[in-house]
This record gives sequence, C-alpha cells and structure tokens, in this order.
Amino acid sequence: MKPLNHLLSRSRHDLVNELRQLLPEAAMGAGRGVVPDGSHAGGRAAAVRHLEAIDPLAYGHTRNHVAGAVTRLSPWIRHGVLSLAEVRDAAIARVADPAQAAKLVSELGWRDYWRQVQLAVGDAIHDDLEAPAARWRRPRLDVVPDDVLEAQTGMACIDAFVRRLHDTGWLHNHERMWLASWLVHVRGVQWQAGADWFLEHLLDGDPASNHLSWQWVAGTFSAKPYLFNRENLETFTSGIHCRGCAVLGRCDVEGGYDDLTARLFVDANEPAARPPLRIRPAAPLPPSPAPTRPLVWLTLDSVSATSPAAAAFPDAPRLFVLDPAWLAAERPSLKRLVFLCECLADVSGVEMLLGDPHAVVPAHAAALGCDGVAIGETPCPRTRHAVATISATQHVATVAWPPFCDRSKVRDLGRFSRYWQQVSTSALRLTVS
Ligand SMILES: Cc1cc2nc3c(=O)[nH]c(=O)nc-3n(C[C@H](O)[C@H](O)[C@H](O)COP(=O)(O)OP(=O)(O)OC[C@H]3O[C@@H](n4cnc5c(N)ncnc54)[C@H](O)[C@@H]3O)c2cc1C
Repeated sequence: MKPLNHLLSRSRHDLVNELRQLLPEAAMGAGRGVVPDGSHAGGRAAAVRHLEAIDPLAYGHTRNHVAGAVTRLSPWIRHGVLSLAEVRDAAIARVADPAQAAKLVSELGWRDYWRQVQLAVGDAIHDDLEAPAARWRRPRLDVVPDDVLEAQTGMACIDAFVRRLHDTGWLHNHERMWLASWLVHVRGVQWQAGADWFLEHLLDGDPASNHLSWQWVAGTFSAKPYLFNRENLETFTSGIHCRGCAVLGRCDVEGGYDDLTARLFVDANEPAARPPLRIRPAAPLPPSPAPTRPLVWLTLDSVSATSPAAAAFPDAPRLFVLDPAWLAAERPSLKRLVFLCECLADVSGVEMLLGDPHAVVPAHAAALGCDGVAIGETPCPRTRHAVATISATQHVATVAWPPFCDRSKVRDLGRFSRYWQQVSTSALRLTVS
C-alpha cells in the first residue's frame, strides 16, 4: 500500500504534474491527458455553486436541446458529492409546484434506476441483458475504429462530439445517445467497446449509468434499438454541425426512420420475439449495529464529507483507497483523476492510499484501533465484494443515502417505465429531515 496524501494538498497545476508522474497511463491515448480549465472542478463548493444555478422549469422545456438548461451536475452526483435527494430537494425548492420539477426529478430517477439494476444484477451489466431487439446487417467490431478516436470520420457532428468528450470529459445526454447510436448501429461497434471508451473519458464515468445506457441504445436492454436521423439532430443542435458538414445530404443518418431501420437491420419488420425481461430488485440490507469508532471508507460513490458514512461519523478517521484494479479496468483519464483528488482534498482529515481495498481497509482500520468500518451504500460489485470479505474479520456498517424515493413496492426492474410508475410519486416529495 502506498500513501498518496501528498496529492490532496496541491494546486491543480501541481496535481496534474504529480499524477502524470505517478500514473502516466492516465494521460496516454487521444485526449486522455487533457485537463480542461472549464466548469467542472472537484469538491463540494463547486458542486453547491452549480446546484444553486439549476432551473428546473427551463430544464423541463429545453433539456433535449444541446444548448438547453441542463444541470451539468453529473460528475458531482456520480461521486456522491451531491445526493439524488439533495438535488431533488433543491429542484423542488426552486418551483412553485413540485410538478414543475417533475422532468428533472424523472431524469434523476434514471440514475437511481440504473443503480438499482446494477445492485440486482452486479457484473452482468457488462453482458447483453436481453437478446438484441433487432439483428444488425453489419458484422460487429470489438474496438472503436481509429477514425472515430481521431475525430476524423467526416461527419461534423460525430467528430465534434468525440473532440468534446476527449477535451472536456462531459457530453450532453443527447450527444451521448447520438454518438452511441451511430457507433453501434451504423459503424457496427459492439456496445461494450463503446461503453469502455466512454468510461476512459467521462468525468462522471459510472458503469451503471454508462453500460446500461449503452445497452438501452443498442437494444439489449430496451424494446427497440435507439436510432436518430439528421432531422432529429438538426432540431436539437440548431443545425450547427450540419450547416458546414462535408457530407451534408448524404450522411449516414440521412432519411426517414423506416429507411434507416431497413438499411441497418435485417429483420426490421419482424421485431424479435423476446420474453418480457424481469429483474427482481436486490433484497434490502438487514440493519446492522453501528460500530462506535469506525474507519469511514470513502469509495468512488462517496467522495465527500457529506456522503452518508462520513456524515454519520463526522469525527471518525476517513480513508480513500485508489484501487489498481479499478485503474486497470476502467482506465480513468487524467482529468477524471484530477476531479477525484479535488473532491477528496475537500474532505478534512482524509487519507488516500494506493492498494487493494480488500487488504488495505481492514489493515488500516486495525492500525488505527477502529472497531469496524463504515461505508456509504453502493451498487459497485467490486466494493460489495470487498465489504463481504472484510466482514469476515471486522464489523462493516453500511449507511444508507437519504431516500430519493420509496422502493418498497418495486418488484420488477425490467423496464424504467415500470419502475417509475411505482416510485415517481414518492420521488416528488421533499426529504423529511
Ligand atoms: C451512452 C450513454 C452513456 C452515459 N454514461 C453516463 C455515465 O457514465 N455517467 C453518468 O452519470 N451518466 C451517464 N449517462 C446519462 C446522462 O447522459 C448523463 O447523466 C447526463 O447527460 C449528465 O448531464 P447533466 O448532469 O447535465 O444531466 P441533467 O440532464 O441535468 O440531469 C440531472 C442529473 O440526472 C441524472 N441523469 C440525467 N439523465 C440521466 C440518464 N439518462 N441516465 C442516468 N442519469 C441521468 C444525472 O445524474 C444528471 O446529473 C449516459 C447516457 C448515455 C446515453
């Protein structure tokens, strides 16, 4: 295990240089070494500033447009600097009637839903959850082609999305959907290759939201593949990409949806006969007695002093473990690691170590004389595996997030619509403190 505390007291400039030395692979590959000055700085203060600026009413009317009033809160939400309940409460506080915040709350609901699905199926999110809804004409590619990675496809829109992903680590939801759809359906890229590529760049990279969204686009976790045409893209971009595009009028997504579908799929008019997908929610954790002097283990889902375990035990020592297995599996970019370190630097007294949490967490808890470990609820399979291992020798208390909705009646996670029908009313209620 290697101490990394020195990363938490640096200016951004020094932090970037230090991380380049320590983890050179994070800066290798197109765009991965770029660290933008832009709007996403790690830490609670920046998160709260962005939260105070949200406009749920404008969001409801404009969110599908790339210039719409979206919140850009995803990097902080993904790392637990803001909870879904806190964002919901802030949204409702800004409107006269909670119904005016319903669109934003339902989008928060997607994130909650993907997390519940990951909690239920674990690592199976990396495989098709259903047989593809339609059969592609093109053979599948298991890598993202070089012309895409180099933003040289000739499609002005796609090249702009790739450049933005590489340069900033953030894309609008519609841009993610278009890019994923074009890659999977037009270029024939296996959705897993695209999903892995996104994780290597996104500041909000999160296997639950990411891999399950790619499956939704691909049609391996949805009723049909997600397609778009030029008209749709022009509408929600005000035509900024198409106007000067070299392939305007003859691009890959030209034409009506019936034509596109017939061009891309062999069985366009015979939707696959698939049994309805049913996913049973994971059983809630049994209540466990709290340790009196725990080590608070901050994970990727909870990099904040306001996250549940840190808030429940404000005086306890705090630890974040940078896991080489995570670095190898998801290949987070330099900008993501900078964001992460900035979030951690905001947590007073936190220690940061490089190593395998299975060993590091119990050893550190024992060295500090703690009588257990406290952790925020997480759907992450690797973290849950570590919790199970550590529980064999130490008491581990899992602390729940403030409730975003009442899931007690949810019996099936096979589709978001079924989930949302059960929980939407409760999601529109303020947290009771
Ligand atoms: C192919 C693809 C990959 C994606 N990968 C990720 C990912 O790795 N991490 C990630 O956080 N989101 C991912 N998303 C979901 C979504 O695109 C982003 O959460 C959203 O665009 C972030 O911008 P925002 O904060 O302005 O969102 P807003 O539209 O302002 O929404 C507010 C919050 O609601 C949540 N949210 C909104 N839409 C979604 C959605 N469709 N799915 C899940 N949560 C949502 C996010 O936490 C977001 O911050 C992906 C979507 C697609 C189509």
